[in-house]
Amino acid sequence: MYKNNYLAARLRSAAIGREVDVFVTGGADRTFGQFFANAEKYAALLTDLGVQDGDRVAVQVNKSVEALELYLGTVLAGAVFLPLNPDYRPAEIMYFLNDATPHVFVSDPSRVDKMHNAVQVAGVKHTLTLDAYGQGSLADGANQQSTGFVPVSRSSGDLAAILYTSGTTGHSKGAMLTHKALASNSAILVDYWGFTKDDVLIHALPIFHTHGLFVATNVVLMAGASMVFLPKFDVDGIIAAMPDATTMMGVPTFYIRLLEDPRLTSELTKRMRLLISGSAPLLAETHERWTDRTGHKILERYGMTETNMNTSNPYEGMRKPGTVGLPLPGVNVKIVDDNGMPLTEGQIGSIEVRGDNVFAGYWQMPEKTAEELRPDGWFVTGDLGVMDADGYISIVGRSKDLIISGGFNVYPKEVEAAIDDVAGVLESAVIGIPHSDFGEAVVAVVVAATGGISQDDITDETAGKLARFKRPKRVLIVDSLPRNTMGKIQKKALREEYADLFI
Ligand code: AMP
Repeated sequence: MYKNNYLAARLRSAAIGREVDVFVTGGADRTFGQFFANAEKYAALLTDLGVQDGDRVAVQVNKSVEALELYLGTVLAGAVFLPLNPDYRPAEIMYFLNDATPHVFVSDPSRVDKMHNAVQVAGVKHTLTLDAYGQGSLADGANQQSTGFVPVSRSSGDLAAILYTSGTTGHSKGAMLTHKALASNSAILVDYWGFTKDDVLIHALPIFHTHGLFVATNVVLMAGASMVFLPKFDVDGIIAAMPDATTMMGVPTFYIRLLEDPRLTSELTKRMRLLISGSAPLLAETHERWTDRTGHKILERYGMTETNMNTSNPYEGMRKPGTVGLPLPGVNVKIVDDNGMPLTEGQIGSIEVRGDNVFAGYWQMPEKTAEELRPDGWFVTGDLGVMDADGYISIVGRSKDLIISGGFNVYPKEVEAAIDDVAGVLESAVIGIPHSDFGEAVVAVVVAATGGISQDDITDETAGKLARFKRPKRVLIVDSLPRNTMGKIQKKALREEYADLFI
């Protein structure tokens, strides 16, 4: 079944004949059979609308099971799925539609009018709607179709999706992901993390990002497992789901927020076998507090839109807090200096990755692709990392966030770790701000856990841990740090906000 469509065949194989619910949602439960049958209807509708092999289907909708059926339907129709964050404003959508020129755009009914101009300018042929309850013109159209759609043939190297990366500078870039990149990475994760038909995953992530869309959904489908599908992260929803769940995939904020709730206990999580964190750094302290409270060791992994998952702490074996673990089977990872020469343990350098998991380049940006994806297949991730004697990797930050002050390299994470250790500090972000003498000056933006902490407290207490050139020239105490939906601190926004500090 689905044999001629590389990714769909692999997502379907474990589910054949399984008449249990894949999605438990408290409203839109689905058996595997229903899920794939609905996806076939979406594929039939897209084909009726004239979608051809390789056409893009851009989708800016709220989280729903139907949106995932549309993802699979797009793949079955031989097209390229292009999910967009529901928070994007019309001007941003204009950029994506102009860049990707999709044949179809699917919008939430509440936003569709605002997007009209963007759709017109980009020459999108069809606009349809889908709301968070699975209603709208797309669903109406799909309901008119019958199941049994014969998938369009797609082979391993064909594109299945384009995901735009947030990008720290300039315009977002569309990462082109092939059937093989997605299928091979999910297969590795199913195996490495021990997913089986008995697993029940708590899914509280957004589905426009690689984490919730590919890591969580593809892994569950491929394993024939099931998921409790929550519209978004909320502590009550997760706590209610935990007693019947076996696994959860989350960003560090999930774990931090859950730790604040007294209902989180080892009893509550006793059926859970695996709690995974990624997409942003998990503090070693959070890892340790989680273990103290529940007895579970969070498994931290590292990936990105362009590469799917690259490294993971082991399922069996030592999970080291503060590290992202070891290269996954089939993924090559190296840490290199500025000349591309491999570094040895303990030396900080640029992380490069090669394997079937790596993307096929940036959509219509050959120069950008050539800068970051070498002809021999190594992708320059833009992350800086260091490997320990056992081969475990730690991420030190993005290379674009590296601060060069007075000619010395300052790795923000090292300074942040020293500041976070000061009593009364909740969290911090360290950035480089233009400075006439030093080129860049180290600046710390700090959130206090309790009132009363001052710049001097932080300066005094970190002085003993940091060489003079690493010490912040200014410490700014703020109420909160800017974060995106995946919990990543937006350093670019901070740099812009404080750009004039030394002028
Ligand atoms: P995205 O493409 O939005 O998924 O962002 C990928 C980036 O998130 C990576 O290049 C890393 O900088 C960061 N990232 C992902 N996982 C981790 C992790 N476990 N620890 C630290 N940074 C991470």
